[in-house]
Parts: sequence; structure tokens; C-alpha cells
Amino acid sequence: MNPQYYMDLEDEFGAHIYNPLDVVLHRGEGVWVWDVEGNKYLDCLSAYSAVNQGHCHPEIVRTMIEQAQTLTLISRAFRNDQLGLFCQEICKLTNSHKVLIMNSGAEAVETVIKAVRKWGYKVKGVPQDQAEIIVCENNFHGRTITIIGFSTNANFRDGFGPFAPGFRIIPYGNANAFEEAITPNTVAFLVEPIQGEGGVIVPPAGYLKEVKAICEKNNVLLILDEIQTGLGRTGKLLAEEHDGIEADLTLIGKALSGGFYPVSAVLSSTEVLGVLRPGEHGSTFGGNPLACAVARKAISVLIDENMIENSAVMGEYFRSGLSDIKNPYIKEVRGRGLLIGVELVPEAKGARRFCQKLLTQGLLCKETHENTIRFAPPLVITKEEIDWALERIEPVLR
Ligand SMILES: *Cc1c(COP(=O)(O)O)cnc(C)c1O
Repeated sequence: MNPQYYMDLEDEFGAHIYNPLDVVLHRGEGVWVWDVEGNKYLDCLSAYSAVNQGHCHPEIVRTMIEQAQTLTLISRAFRNDQLGLFCQEICKLTNSHKVLIMNSGAEAVETVIKAVRKWGYKVKGVPQDQAEIIVCENNFHGRTITIIGFSTNANFRDGFGPFAPGFRIIPYGNANAFEEAITPNTVAFLVEPIQGEGGVIVPPAGYLKEVKAICEKNNVLLILDEIQTGLGRTGKLLAEEHDGIEADLTLIGKALSGGFYPVSAVLSSTEVLGVLRPGEHGSTFGGNPLACAVARKAISVLIDENMIENSAVMGEYFRSGLSDIKNPYIKEVRGRGLLIGVELVPEAKGARRFCQKLLTQGLLCKETHENTIRFAPPLVITKEEIDWALERIEPVLR
């Protein structure tokens, strides 16, 4: 079928909340996807890092089918035989004390906001309704009303107020600014180890370590949003490992299911999640047996197939290949593991036109912010496939 047919349908009947590149995809396998006409592309976005394990990983497919034929959803009104196993496995793997399973990333963020506020009132002793959470400029934590209320992106916020109070915004990557913003009512600091949607912004070395020390000194909880940076994307299971720290609370999502199903989680290295009592939080789909079975398999293939190590090694190789491209349009190549940003100078007139050109060469990429192209392929990518990509990226940037 003609791709225009599908694009017209989507434009006529679907709400226009995205501005997608004009390619209509039909099938995927590993790092590759095919459009409705059978053209093949290397996926360098991985659904914003939700498909770290590669498209349609056969073992996750098998688990999903088996569990779908066994039991999918019963709600948390009853117990199921997958939830406890999943919680135990993810806690052991991340050295966590407790975990709370939700569905989307934004729900994990909403959940952690509730948990740290409650902790503030019950444990820290903050006066009722006075809890403050510190967040960063240029953040991305999702799209709900609470979350966009503390976004600094006008496009995300304008026309959607009024917003929830209780958030204080500071510059990213500046530990002094964080320390100065703390008040007796501060309960937590919510921050991304690398700002993915913000343009693959890597903070100065040691930033998280400093932040963690300031948190401890002031009895403030550190919440790392690892929904994009977690699960091998930066070459470690969690990006916090680069700084040798452990956050009090860590949010994961996206690749937690290998892209099969929305599964997110709040991981807690302390007792904080214990402040939530029955009836105070919930989700019909959260922690259902299908989600748990799929996520258990998605995590085990990530580890058993050495995808995290591959992300570190191939990330280095890809980044150095991109850095070798001599071109006055390239301002900076940065990132960690297979989360890579190529920032172009303003004279390049935006990253999107390059993404459009790369599409015609068989590479799917997306601009993040005006001038940065993000390269974040599935973590199963090989050296040969990166060479294939570099051969196409170089002439397009030239
Ligand atoms: C994608 C993302 C979210 C939101 O996840 P959704 O599943 O889209 O709600 C939150 N934080 C970060 C860092 C993200 O990259």
C-alpha cells in the first residue's frame, strides 16, 4: 500500500501532537526496520531508548505470547505469580530495597512525587502542604499536568495551566545552585543523569557525586530519572554508576519492557516507599502479570546477551567515528555509551533537515532541540552496522 494512504489516515483522524518524519514503518528486527514499501532502515532512535534490546527480540516475543495465553490482568485486588518475582529480581539487580511498578514513565514520576512528599511530612517533619521539590532547567520528565508545570519549555506548558505548586527550578549541572536552593522544606531533588530530550546534555564530571553529598548533608532525597539513561543506554546498567553513587530513588521505564509494553518502576534504595500505605496509590494495569513477565525477560536478555557492555564499547566506537568527521557544521559530539548527541552550529539551519536527508539514506534519526541530532540505536548494534551508518552520515553532514 502507498505510504501516503497511511499518512493521510493518520492526519485526518488522529490528533496532531507529533511532527513525525514521513516514513511509515511496518516491521522491525534487531536494529533494522522496514517501511510499508519494503525499504530498510537502521533505527538510530530506538523509540527514545525504549527498544534497547532491539526490535521484536525473539525471546521477549515468546515470553509475551506465553504469558498472554496464561494470564494478563487481574488487578492488584488479587495477587499474581509474576509480580513478586519481578520485584525481587529488579531489587537484587539494582541493590534496591523496594520497588513500585507502574506503566508509563510519567506515572513513575508522578508516583515518586507523591512518595517523597509523604516522606517529607511523615519522616522529615515538613509542615503540611509545604514540601518543595527541586528540579532543573531544560528537564524532561513527561507530559502530565504536574510534570509540565515544572518544565521550562514554553511549548510544553503554554495553554495548559494552572499548575501544581511545590517545585523550584535551578540550572542543570551546577551543584552550588542546588545547595543554595535547599530550604528546610526541601524534600527531594529530581534530576536526569544526562538530559536526553534536552539535547543530550552531559553534566560536568562529578556533578552527581557532589549532588548526592549535598543531599545527604541536608536530609534531601536524590531522585534520578533514568527512564532514558537507564538499562544499559549509557554503557552501565544505570548511569549513576558512572559517578559511583546510588540515588535514594531511581525511575526506570522505556526499555524495561524492551519496547513491548508500557512498564515503569520507582526503585528505592531506602525505606522511602514504605511511607505509602494501602489505598494511597494504585494503578489498574500496574504490576500486572503480562507486564511483569515481559519485563523480567527484557531485563534478562539485556544482561545475558551482554548488551550493556556492547553499549559501552560500541558507543565509544560510534562517538569516535562521529568525532572524526571533519565538518564546520559540527559544533560538538557528546554523550555516553549509545546515547550520543551531535550538536550543529546555528549556521547549519537546524538538525531536522539532516534527519530528513538521513532518512533517504536509510537511517532513522530524530533531532532533539533545534540543533542536535541524537544517535541512540538499539544496544545490539555491531561494528559493521556502525560503519554502515558512518558511511552514510558523513556525506549527509558534508
Ligand atoms: C521518556 C521520558 C519520560 C516519560 O516517559 P513516558 O513513558 O513517555 O511517560 C520521563 N523522563 C525521561 C528522562 C524520559 O526520557
